[in-house]
Amino acid sequence: MEILKTKSSVADFLNQVWKSGDPIGFVPTMGALHQGHISLVERAKLENSIVTASIFVNPIQFNNPEDLKKYPRNIDRDLDLLGEAGCDLVFIPEVEEMYPETALEKYDFGYLENIMEGKYRPGHFNGVAVVVNRLFDIFKPSKSYLGEKDLQQLRIIEQLVVQNKISTEIIPCAIVREADGLAMSSRNLRLNPEHRKKASLIYQTLTKSKEMANTHTVNEIVNFVTDQFETDEDFRLEYFSIVDFHSLLAIESWEDGITPVGCIAAFLGDIRLIDNMILK
Ligand code: AMP
Repeated sequence: MEILKTKSSVADFLNQVWKSGDPIGFVPTMGALHQGHISLVERAKLENSIVTASIFVNPIQFNNPEDLKKYPRNIDRDLDLLGEAGCDLVFIPEVEEMYPETALEKYDFGYLENIMEGKYRPGHFNGVAVVVNRLFDIFKPSKSYLGEKDLQQLRIIEQLVVQNKISTEIIPCAIVREADGLAMSSRNLRLNPEHRKKASLIYQTLTKSKEMANTHTVNEIVNFVTDQFETDEDFRLEYFSIVDFHSLLAIESWEDGITPVGCIAAFLGDIRLIDNMILK
């Protein structure tokens, strides 16, 4: 596996591949890799001639400086995991390589950037769009693999591709979970042992919501979820929204032709966790 730190070395490596037209799969990550990330690499491996990945903890998408400072980093293990999964090239740039100039572009994703994550993490999606746009420009991937774990981010990047007329196909990949149902996340490493045990409440609540969706209204489920998190003072529910899987617009009742998905963000201690589940 090639480990490259500069845009020009990536271009040198990929030049022949671009010319040949062989498909390039790309998996952008922030490192501290787990099986969720690796599932994206494995899928990319099946569908492309060359599999590429990036590891870059993107400072401009962190609205909380403490979260950036404490973001887990484990580069040696990341490289082992990527190598074992058959990744051909990993790009690990320094901040200066990604952001040599000061002015950053400003995107407009309409309502999509103001709801759910956008409401609680101002500027987050602009930071995501800026870095992903730059990464797409560096790799020019045929297909890009993104996790449904970050459903709103996936929809934002789909919009970015349309707005900027980027020729990469976005491939959404299913959420990979721990044995107790907790969605895998680099942030899980920061949970203390007691909180790690409690964290499966998020999955349990989503699973129960899915069961209830057959017999209860949207409102009843929102109330149920809210109550669930009030029973444990270590949790602080930031939002639970039932939205359409495609548009992410909130729904008020179970409508035909709409795939409802429950999206949740909750603090467990000072660690913020997100998850989602299709309810019907
Ligand atoms: P991150 O390193 O958190 O920026 O994630 C990099 C990519 O991996 C994103 O497309 C995420 O949605 C995806 N991802 C993270 N966790 C999971 C998971 N548990 N299952 C599937 N994909 C995931």
